Amino acid sequence: MKSLYIFSFMFLFYLSYNPLDSARSKKISKKPDSSYTIVIHGGAGTIDKSMPDSIKQSYLNSLSEALTIGRNILKNGGTSMDAVENVIKYFETNPQFNAGIGSVFTADGTHEMDASIMDGRDLSCGAVAGVQHVPHPISLARLVMDKTQHVLLAYEGAEKFAEKMGIKLVPQSYFDTPERYKQWQEYRKKLEAGKHGTVGCVALDKYGNLAAGTSTGGMTGKLPGRIGDSPLIGDGTYANNKTCAVSCTGWGEKFIKYTVAYNVSALMEYKGMTLKQAADYVIYKQLQPNDGGLIAVDKNGNYTTPFNTSGMFRGVAASSGKFVVNIWK
Ligand code: ASP
Repeated sequence: MKSLYIFSFMFLFYLSYNPLDSARSKKISKKPDSSYTIVIHGGAGTIDKSMPDSIKQSYLNSLSEALTIGRNILKNGGTSMDAVENVIKYFETNPQFNAGIGSVFTADGTHEMDASIMDGRDLSCGAVAGVQHVPHPISLARLVMDKTQHVLLAYEGAEKFAEKMGIKLVPQSYFDTPERYKQWQEYRKKLEAGKHGTVGCVALDKYGNLAAGTSTGGMTGKLPGRIGDSPLIGDGTYANNKTCAVSCTGWGEKFIKYTVAYNVSALMEYKGMTLKQAADYVIYKQLQPNDGGLIAVDKNGNYTTPFNTSGMFRGVAASSGKFVVNIWK
């Protein structure tokens, strides 16, 4: 009899246990329509329209692969946080993008990476800046959020924390690619900072929760020690279930000056703008041409991807069956 009681108790416990939420034991419940939306970017900038078809196709294929990873997580009832982290992890191992492997070179020929992630349920967030040996900066950002009382860890401190979390550090050469090396050499001749290839993802899951994340190697030729908008919550990344989730890409210093990601949310919250009105205002009226772009999704699944550069690698998938990837307007 006693063992029957124990068994029933364990069975009830099993039923009430939600693995999706075990890490931080927060209440999540499905929203009535179970719809979801995911938007990704692989950087905005001057993207040459005359690039060979094979290269164009390989970018589109990579965007589709990233989008499929995120879409499947949401479709199977996973959280927006998991979708965002896993899409960005994919980009961090794809050498075509400026995050993880494929990160740009600093003026000194090193790699310094930044990343951040934010949970729209309760504004929890985590970020890392200037990490040089961490294969997945986005996952370290999530660990900062989950396992510390801080929001942003940088440089050696961030890497010591990574080791404490069991992450195996890698040599700088792990991030090198011939393409980024060439860009750095060109930068040294012209001293013109290149920008594009940063990655980001925003998602609305079946439970109505928004999340956003961004990861980057920064800008080619940046001074060692320079930190851009990507790891700064409110500048490069923001998510709030009340309004929207945003991930930015472009000239980081401008995105910091205009507090771009939070501005989109604030315009919605305080001025009653729609997602598109708010994002268009910041990208086309506050920023200047060629500064960059953003992706955003709101609590109702509306999304927008404005940019004032010649192109932005991007994609969107939703429970409606929508699945699109694009580079230019
Ligand atoms: N915003 C990134 C930075 O300034 C670069 C980019 O998005 O391309 O570090």
